[in-house]
Amino acid sequence: MPILVMKFGGTSVATLDRIRRAAKRIGREVANGYDVIVIVSAMSGETNRLVGLVDETSPLYDAREYDAVVSSGENVTAGLMALTLQEMDIPARSWQGWQVPLKTTSAHSAARIVDIPNDNINSKFAEGMKVAVVAGFQGISDEGRISTLGRGGSDTTAVAFAAAFGAERCDIYTDVDGVYTTDPRITDKARKLKKIAFEEMLELASLGAKVLQTRSVELAMRYKVKLRVLSSFEEYDPTAGTLICAEEDIVESRVVSGVAASREEAKMTLLQVKDTPGIAAAIFGPLAEAGINVDMIVQNISEKGHTDMTFSCPTAQVKRAEKALNEAKANGGIAFAELVADTNVAKVSVVGIGMRSQSGVAAKMFKVLSDEGINIKVIATSEIKISVLIDRKYMELAVQALHDAFELEKAG
Ligand code: ASP
Ligand code: MG
Repeated sequence: MPILVMKFGGTSVATLDRIRRAAKRIGREVANGYDVIVIVSAMSGETNRLVGLVDETSPLYDAREYDAVVSSGENVTAGLMALTLQEMDIPARSWQGWQVPLKTTSAHSAARIVDIPNDNINSKFAEGMKVAVVAGFQGISDEGRISTLGRGGSDTTAVAFAAAFGAERCDIYTDVDGVYTTDPRITDKARKLKKIAFEEMLELASLGAKVLQTRSVELAMRYKVKLRVLSSFEEYDPTAGTLICAEEDIVESRVVSGVAASREEAKMTLLQVKDTPGIAAAIFGPLAEAGINVDMIVQNISEKGHTDMTFSCPTAQVKRAEKALNEAKANGGIAFAELVADTNVAKVSVVGIGMRSQSGVAAKMFKVLSDEGINIKVIATSEIKISVLIDRKYMELAVQALHDAFELEKAG
């Protein structure tokens, strides 16, 4: 029997009614001839509630006990889903991570999957079981303790199962009906994409399109798992949602697939840095040690032995970055005149695999922004992405103008 992985997020299992609705979809795929592995999240809000209980009990908690507590939400939905399927006369049983066993590293609360042996579940399929319901987000660490994969980790559980079992596809049921060309709250011209390449999805995911846990997309790309994102609230339609797939599987060519925007970005500039060999390492070493996620970096040309160095990082990390740099200055690691933080910026990016073969995308982006009178503060590019930092008040305008210029309302 071909295997299908179906993952239901928290909103799709938030009530017994919704669990029944999801179970009907699972029943339909069983009728279509699949053996199904279902991955469930905790009921929506439940993981947050459990995290709250841990925080209140022990602010500097032991991560192994944190995992023991916060993984429990998924145990409940896995059991309830198996019961619901049994009520519908579909042979099903539940599995907690350790029973599979889904083996992970011991990096508690952010563990990585090491192995998913498939003999256990496959032998049940061979005996006639039709649905294995697996608690997402959790596993067993190499120390034999319950572990979790980080918030949103059920997506990664689902993709890892699809890879381990050679599933035909991994369907992620969620509360949005797919991946859009941009945030539909910014422009009503945003269109749902039928297909998007793994690389594009990765850029969009890390740019703040919070549809999937980033790690799940990395995993899907590595193992070439066909991933589909779709809504569990819409009527059944075999072509619904957005398919995230390899570049070769996308026939229609487009240069730009999406415009992403992030408000949570700050710009930091070190003025008058003494320009000597090793200066970048002396600045970014302490930032890395302080756990700052530096994104864009620009070094100005130096004049009279001094230069300015600008970088961007999440707004929430500005204070920590300032502390790290001022400490490095105090102990003689770096010399600079002034440190200026600008938290009134936004990052806007255009993403598309077509950029690899098509030139002129950057020029067009800059022209569009200049026509709107928007000043660019920092630019960064990768093979399939161009990002700019601009004044935050122009973020929506920039997204709308770029979405128009690249004719994304015709995508999808
Ligand atoms: N329940 C976990 C969370 O809320 C894992 C997941 O749903 O993906 O983060
Ligand atoms: Mg999620």
